[in-house]
Amino acid sequence: MTIAYCKRCGRIFNQVRRNICPACVAEEDKMFEIVKTYLRQNKDATMMQVTEETGVPTEFIVDMIRDGRLILRDNPNLTYPCERCGQPTQAGRYCAACTKELSESLSAASAQLKQKQHPQPGRGYYSKN
Ligand SMILES: [Zn+2]
Ligand SMILES: [Zn+2]
Repeated sequence: MTIAYCKRCGRIFNQVRRNICPACVAEEDKMFEIVKTYLRQNKDATMMQVTEETGVPTEFIVDMIRDGRLILRDNPNLTYPCERCGQPTQAGRYCAACTKELSESLSAASAQLKQKQHPQPGRGYYSKN
């Protein structure tokens, strides 16, 4: 059992998996549903429209997209800036061009590191209820 401060509201809670408390998880789930429903009904919506219409903060929507929880298959206008170059993107932290560039430099770097590398053990923080 781990006692932690909720990252979102600051309350103390028993941490199981997430770094936010159960009340905030429920609230985030609710916001997630609202955004998902809104996007399904408004396929042309931009980020500004979504935040204005749903009241859900941009950061939360972007977080959901980056986490892969919200997938923008049918919403071509919903974009947020790439963390690297600022170009509009719809998935992950970087735009397609940066992802490609980064993965190329990364694979070059990992080729150099290959001999030194050890597999990382999985993080076993899951508590058995
Ligand atoms: Zn909380
Ligand atoms: Zn970029």
